[in-house]
Amino acid sequence: MRSAPGRSRVPVRLALAAALAAALTAVPASAQPGAERYPDLSREVLPAGDGWAAAGSGTTGGAAADPAHVYTVRTRAELVRALDGGSATPKIIRIAGTIDADTDDAGRRLSCADHATDGYRIEEYLAAYDPRVWGAAKPSGPQEDARRASAARQAERVVLAVGSNTTLIGAGPGAGLRGAALQIENAENVIVRDLELADAYDCFPVWQPNSGGLGDWKSAYDTLWLRGARNVWVDHVTFSDKGHPDAAEPTYFGRNFLRHDGLLDITNGSDLVTVSWSRFAGHDKAMLIGNGDGVVTDRGKLRVTLHHNEFTGVVQRAPRVRFGQVHVYNNRYVVPEDAHDYRYSLGVSTESAVVAEHNSFTTPAHVEAADLVKSWNGTAFQARGNVFNGYPVDLLTLYNAYNSGSERDLTDQVGWTPVLHGPVESAAAADRAVARHAGAGRAGR
Ligand code: CA
Repeated sequence: MRSAPGRSRVPVRLALAAALAAALTAVPASAQPGAERYPDLSREVLPAGDGWAAAGSGTTGGAAADPAHVYTVRTRAELVRALDGGSATPKIIRIAGTIDADTDDAGRRLSCADHATDGYRIEEYLAAYDPRVWGAAKPSGPQEDARRASAARQAERVVLAVGSNTTLIGAGPGAGLRGAALQIENAENVIVRDLELADAYDCFPVWQPNSGGLGDWKSAYDTLWLRGARNVWVDHVTFSDKGHPDAAEPTYFGRNFLRHDGLLDITNGSDLVTVSWSRFAGHDKAMLIGNGDGVVTDRGKLRVTLHHNEFTGVVQRAPRVRFGQVHVYNNRYVVPEDAHDYRYSLGVSTESAVVAEHNSFTTPAHVEAADLVKSWNGTAFQARGNVFNGYPVDLLTLYNAYNSGSERDLTDQVGWTPVLHGPVESAAAADRAVARHAGAGRAGR
């Protein structure tokens, strides 16, 4: 269902406080183009029945906040104070403009050189752990120690914990965070809405010689990471690496020096999550649901609904799923003409139970319908009503016909039927609606 367009009236004292705060900034929000039309959705809650996050006690975020816990923040320092170390106090945090997380307490932009300590230098790191010299052992020694110490300094600035009973929402056009790694850890009832979240950039990727056979660079930060999180609604959020595309990064040891990990990863027993009307753009690994085949404590959890989202220029994981019952409906997938690194969209892994229906996929000629789904240890996958370049496509039959190889065929016996969802539209209608209405700055309109 499209998010409710309710424009609830703001209590007078809040409006006065917001007006006063706006008057104190160099560019008052009211002077920004479009601000006068900007609806205040701060106290909206997830509509009943809108995906898995509507299960249990539903998702209300900070709707119960008292006036003392409604904040409009413009700087990292204000944001950190409002987040209150991830406390569970009901709170509404309205973000005005773009806040750069990788800044010092005075708001000065920090560079990777500012974080580097103990003699870390990428040239020396590369020299020390070149596989031709170092072999396939895990990096250890002075440069790895220095990398860790440097990374800890950056993490102290960019990792921001969001606590239970919180609504984090844009306060006007262009609202968002840059360079932040938001984490909802062991918390519940959180709404993240109407924000542009960009460039969770890792200054200090680690070399993992045994990753994927060829080794790989691993970055620490997801733009938003749900760990042990319950009842979370992510709506009208635009996720990207804006400003620092990984494709522009160099290749070291034959592998892309990735600066970013996931855009939205959902792991470690997280459950009851709805992601709607959001955009995932220009990124390698967009969304991981379940981060290990051996994490059997995830059984019965990782229940996620994805609807009316756009995945544009995403290489893989849109999403990749382990264990969870995941409903993927009415999403829009676009692989750009120049995307030669595309791998797959829907990843079916250990004990996952994905139902993918009425999604639309638009790709250039070098991508085939059989490329859209990939399985590692998956057994089941259910698909109906999906459209590939304008034509109906049976993703399950295609997968079994072309991709089985060493993998087993997938059956359509996922063992559950989605019941928590809004009206399911045709893929074509959803494609048009998502193109027009998904992403930051479009909530409530
Ligand atoms: Ca991750």
